Amino acid sequence: MLSMPAPAARGVPKLSIVIPVYNEEGVLPTLFARIYPALDALGVSYEVVFVNDGSKDRSVALLRQQFSARPDHTRVVLFHANFGQHSAVMAGLSYARGDYVVTLDADLQNPPEEISKLVDMLDQGYDYVGTIRQHRQDSWWRRWFSKMLNRLRERITPVHMTDQGCMMRGYARSVVTALNQTREVNTFIPALASLYAMRPIEVPISHEERFAGQSKYSLYSLIRLNFDLITGFSVVPLQLFSMVGMAVATLSALLVVYLFVRRVLVGPEAEGLFTLFGVVFFLIGIALFGIGLLGEYVGRIYAQVRERPRYIVEAVLEADSVRDNPR
Ligand code: UDP
Ligand code: MG
Repeated sequence: MLSMPAPAARGVPKLSIVIPVYNEEGVLPTLFARIYPALDALGVSYEVVFVNDGSKDRSVALLRQQFSARPDHTRVVLFHANFGQHSAVMAGLSYARGDYVVTLDADLQNPPEEISKLVDMLDQGYDYVGTIRQHRQDSWWRRWFSKMLNRLRERITPVHMTDQGCMMRGYARSVVTALNQTREVNTFIPALASLYAMRPIEVPISHEERFAGQSKYSLYSLIRLNFDLITGFSVVPLQLFSMVGMAVATLSALLVVYLFVRRVLVGPEAEGLFTLFGVVFFLIGIALFGIGLLGEYVGRIYAQVRERPRYIVEAVLEADSVRDNPR
């Protein structure tokens, strides 16, 4: 750690950038080369908080190197294992000291040059700046999947935003404080922040292809993430389920009455066995889905009551003056 930081580092910066990093050795050099000039051009005091989410490649070495190159503007939080993107961002938010905090992905899908748009909005007094990706550069199934989930989320949760997927967002200090006070595990930060915001706004930003490396999200983890978004913000799925249960119970009661009447009028019948199978399998399917859905909520409660730390920090690289000026 360097003991003589540049004078610019003293005091609290106006802007903190939070970037989660997980196995990003392919993009980090280009990210550094683009983000620092973009931030220098803004003409405000800033810090970049990188959170290494247990990378197994050379990301940590590259982050250390960047810290020595720009100790006055760089802080690096090193996790002790992989805790997931949202935990990394939460850690970044709690280490960030700026009046404004902008989160973005390391892979350059969110161009660092767009940060200025978010800062402009925060300067105008908005406390939450959402983003809408223009010409999103992702595979067709990701775009389709997002569109469907956006619609679902819009209908059944109190969270309203045009584009839920993009992590590049700007938060004012008041929203960051509220986020830092939230003890919820498995959350979805942009959605949570939008609930805390008093003056939200959205801006269009450009979107690029992942610069190098691969997406860390498989279809499976995307589904998990979206369960967090839906079950974390709404109990409508459970309520819907009891509605379906009620409808099915009513229909089967009617069926029993009908069969009873036929038994009396027509006499014994043994046909329709496969129809019966069909009905039974359908009901079993619904019951299994219901159990799974209950499990989602129980799982969330379980994760919450265990109260394990959301992440474990192994080390923090920062200039000494930062520690002399805790926020
Ligand atoms: N990331 C992370 N931990 C993880 C997975 C991802 O910190 O377990 C970071 C990753 O390094 C990147 C960001 O989260 O900065 C978004 O990941 P990615 O680009 O793979 O997601 P996508 O853009 O495909 O949704
Ligand atoms: Mg990406």
